[in-house]
Amino acid sequence: MTNTVTGIGYDSHKFKEGRKLILGGAQIPCDMGLDGHSDADALCHAIIDGILGAAGKPDIGSMFPDTDPKWKNANSIDLLKQVIELIKTDGAKVLYIDSVIITERPKILPHIAEITKNLSLATGLKKERINIKAKTNEKMGFSGRGEGLVAMACVSMERDFND
Ligand code: MG
Repeated sequence: MTNTVTGIGYDSHKFKEGRKLILGGAQIPCDMGLDGHSDADALCHAIIDGILGAAGKPDIGSMFPDTDPKWKNANSIDLLKQVIELIKTDGAKVLYIDSVIITERPKILPHIAEITKNLSLATGLKKERINIKAKTNEKMGFSGRGEGLVAMACVSMERDFND
């Protein structure tokens, strides 16, 4: 039976000097970037986890372990493409992605069009099936103090079940 299911994804990375800030495959001007084994693209990582969650699979760390040198400085848009191919082989199809980026800096709004285009190309989804929102954390907590950035995603997927 074909069902529409939902998956959630969450990711956070620390800000670090000397790193590029990459979100949804876009390089965003900022005095700091995000620290991580890969390019630390928290938005792509949250979306990947949302897709894997809807597909009933383990999280991104199981598929692309940060202990594996193969994924050092990995381009997360490429990881997203791999996950899309993986779920296609299961006959599943992503229908819609909603997401939110939570950070005090920099302003994300001017970059949303570029991020949406990148994600559309990586997933094969039309732009109107991808939504990206951005907000601050009102200066509360680690994100509010500017120590790190958070991304969350909610992914709708059409998938076959044997029940
Ligand atoms: Mg991550």
